Amino acid sequence: MTTDRPASTESFDSLDPATGEVLATHPITGAEEVAAAVARAREAGTWWQAQGWATRRRHLRAWRAELATGIGELADLVHRENGKPRADAILEITLAVDHLAWAARHAPRVLGSRRVRAGLLAANQSATLEYQPVGVVGVIGPWNYPVFTPMGSIAYALAAGNAVVFKPSEYTPGVGLWLEDAWRRAVPERPHVLQVVTGLGPTGAALCRSGVDKIAFTGSAATGRKVMAACAEGLVPVLMECGGKDALIVDDDADVAAAADAALWGGLSNAGQTCIGIERVYATDRVYDAFVEELTARARELRSGPGADPSYGPITMPSQVDVIRRHLADAVQKGGRALVGGGTDGPWVEPTVLVDVPEDSAAVQEETFGPTLTVTRVPDAEEALRRANDTRYGLAGAVFTRSAAKGLDLARRMRSGMTSINSVTAFASVPSLPFGGIGDSGFGRIHGEDGLKEFTRAKAITRQRFALPVPLTSFTRPAKVADQLAGVVKLAYGRGRRRG
Ligand code: NAD
Repeated sequence: MTTDRPASTESFDSLDPATGEVLATHPITGAEEVAAAVARAREAGTWWQAQGWATRRRHLRAWRAELATGIGELADLVHRENGKPRADAILEITLAVDHLAWAARHAPRVLGSRRVRAGLLAANQSATLEYQPVGVVGVIGPWNYPVFTPMGSIAYALAAGNAVVFKPSEYTPGVGLWLEDAWRRAVPERPHVLQVVTGLGPTGAALCRSGVDKIAFTGSAATGRKVMAACAEGLVPVLMECGGKDALIVDDDADVAAAADAALWGGLSNAGQTCIGIERVYATDRVYDAFVEELTARARELRSGPGADPSYGPITMPSQVDVIRRHLADAVQKGGRALVGGGTDGPWVEPTVLVDVPEDSAAVQEETFGPTLTVTRVPDAEEALRRANDTRYGLAGAVFTRSAAKGLDLARRMRSGMTSINSVTAFASVPSLPFGGIGDSGFGRIHGEDGLKEFTRAKAITRQRFALPVPLTSFTRPAKVADQLAGVVKLAYGRGRRRG
């Protein structure tokens, strides 16, 4: 099964974040081995593209079935490598499988060849548009949603007809290898359509320089800049899915209990290690006290720590605990108060609700990526929106209001790629909606029609059906044609001129 996996002598360990115990040892794939994987992918990708929509869909269905039937085993692996509760891993995999099904089903409609209107000047042409696969897509993934997040690129890239070489995070390499093994079982005739290369940052950098046709990167904005720089050397296009500092707005007329429940899940599930997690809450003066009371009461019910059945897992990446501690200390030093939590114990961080934290503190400005929320009182929803938008990130966010019109207005004006009204993160579970950010949160889109097109290049084709009676693009064009053409343009487009 694993014969063409790299024979590197260098290796790294994947660890259980709760205990530090070594789970497995994996090879560090070197630049030459990455290039070899990309060469194999190119050959396999030609075969994959030639299969056509129906056969590809059948293969993707077989892979989907491997994921669906293996969900328990994969969830155990996600739990061991990432630390999140098994039930949360099941939810994550369920969403990924649903996206895979959507991408495979809708790819022919979204990307397939279609006739488009040729227009006035080219009435003698038949015009065809289609979206062709770029070739080999390199996917570089994070560890926080080690199935759902990379699958947003992998599933859509495969459905669009590309081969994929996937570099999973060094914190969740086993999950990546499980996905590759599932592919090999589903499509044994061409295992190299989806390959995994394990390793640390330099393996990702090697993938950027390996001759792939596109890089889909998900991770921090800081690493994203390095990935873009490496890709710039070869003019390799990039998709950037980076971090966020998402806000939740609680308006005057909000269902306060629902808002508190959603803020807690949005902020603290997965130990707060969610790119589209809520990190800041802005509640209007009218509801602030009731909201904080509801939120803190619910936060005190959560369990964290190594005991049985915690509400969320440990922090996956040991170095992140230092970042969280720094944000907490800075918030308190600047006048903030932890109404709930505020402490850490090894890789475990208490459920934490902070109030009175100044806007210029790290806990409000930087991505914390921990189970913490800042809650700030604002006079009205306009001020809440102003502050929500006052960040260099722009990934997602949420608005709570009973007014459908106001909710839509605030959602539209939130400077983010995605906003949910009266819930958190709901857009991620709608396969037909695009997913992605602006500013330091990145650019490009996974999911939905945009996510399929992201891994293609538009191809334009015209076929001349008959020659025009008067040739426009020929040296045989009579001199008077230019004046006739000018007359036609005036007739067709000349109305609407402003006078006076
Ligand atoms: P990270 O940036 O540390 O690493 C991401 C990946 O990049 C890893 O596979 C890593 O090995 C690789 N890498 C590191 N250095 C590299 C280099 N020089 N060249 C190429 N690849 C390199 O991020 P992380 O800690 O794994 O993930 C957490 C971050 O990801 C957070 O900021 C989070 O918000 C973000 N995230 C964003 C989304 C999204 O869809 N927008 C989803 C999940 C996570």
